[in-house]
Amino acid sequence: MTSNVCVLGAGRMGSSIARTLLDRGYSTWVWNRTAAKCEPLAALGAKVAPSVEDGIRAADVVIINVLDYAASDALLKRDGIGSVLAGKAVVQLTSGSPRLAREEARWVEAHGARYLDGAIMATPNFIGKSETALLYSGSRDVYEKHKPLLSALGGGTSYVGELAGQASALDTALLTQMWGGLFGALQGMAVAEAEGLDLETFKSHLSAFKPVVDAALFDLVDRTNARRFAGDDATLASLGAHYSAFRHLLEACEERGLNAAMPRAMDMIFRQALSLGRMEDDFASLAPLFRNGSPPQNGEATNA
Ligand code: NAD
Repeated sequence: MTSNVCVLGAGRMGSSIARTLLDRGYSTWVWNRTAAKCEPLAALGAKVAPSVEDGIRAADVVIINVLDYAASDALLKRDGIGSVLAGKAVVQLTSGSPRLAREEARWVEAHGARYLDGAIMATPNFIGKSETALLYSGSRDVYEKHKPLLSALGGGTSYVGELAGQASALDTALLTQMWGGLFGALQGMAVAEAEGLDLETFKSHLSAFKPVVDAALFDLVDRTNARRFAGDDATLASLGAHYSAFRHLLEACEERGLNAAMPRAMDMIFRQALSLGRMEDDFASLAPLFRNGSPPQNGEATNA
C-alpha cells in the first residue's frame, strides 16, 4: 500500500498525474524546476517539496515526469540524491528509448532503489480514465505492490516484462504503426485533393475501409508470428496483387507532381522481395526485410 508519492516534474503531464493522484486521495508531494507550476497543485492539496531531495525523502514512490532523460539525469545524477533514493520505488514516466530505460534501471538499482519504467499511451487529458493505457516494465515487485496507484493513472495499465526497456520498446513499436497510418493519410489526402476529391469524402470512406485494414493488420501480425510467408488459401492478397495496386499510387504521384518520397521507399522494399520472384507470397513475406535489411532467401519464405 502506497502511503506517500512524490511527482518530480509538474509540466502538462506531471501536473495531470499529480492532480489525478490527489483526486484519488494519495498523499502527494510535487516538485518542479520552476516552483510556480506547483501552485495550482498546492491549491488542490499537494505538498510542495522545496528540493528534489526533500520530495524523494518524503515518498515511498517517486514518479519522474520531465521533458526527457537528460532533464531527469539533471535531477537525479548528482551528489546527495543516491543516499535518499535507497529503499524507494522509482517510477520513470519520462519518455525514453529502451537503452535509456536499461541504463536508468542499472543506475537506480545500484543506489539501493527499485525501478519501474513506464510509457504513457495517452495525452494529459486522458490520465485517470478507465480506458487509458500505461505500459510498465522492470521491477515486477514495484508493479504488484503499487498497482492500485498505477491503475489510478489509467485503467488500461499493464505490465509487459521484467526487462526495463520493454515498455519503451512496445511504446515505440505501437507508435511506429501509428506513424505509418498518419503518414499514409498525408499521402492519401494529397492524392485525393490532386484529383478533385474533398477531404470530407476521404474521411467518410476511411471509416468504411477501416475494418478491412484492421483485419489485414492483425492477419499480418499473426502470419509473421507463425512465419507463414508463402501464399496459401488464407492469403488475403498476394505480394504481386499488392504491388500491382501500389503502382497506381506511384503513377498518381508522378502525374500530379506530388511528393513521392514515401511511396518510393515502399517501392524499393516491394522490389527487393519481388526481385526474388515472390509474386505469389503473402504480404507478410516482407517482414524479414525489416529485421536485418535482407530479403527472405530461397526456402525461408515457406510454410515449412
Ligand atoms: P512539458 O513541456 O509540459 O513539461 C516538461 C517538464 O520538464 C516541466 O515540468 C519542466 O520544468 C521539466 N524540465 C524540462 N527540462 C528540465 C530540466 N533540465 N530539469 C528539470 N526539469 C526540467 O511536457 P509534458 O507534455 O508534460 O511531457 C513530459 C514527459 O511526458 C515527456 O517525456 C513526454 O514525452 C511525456 N509524455 C507526454 C505526453 C503528452 O501528451 N504531453 C504523452 C505521453 C508522454
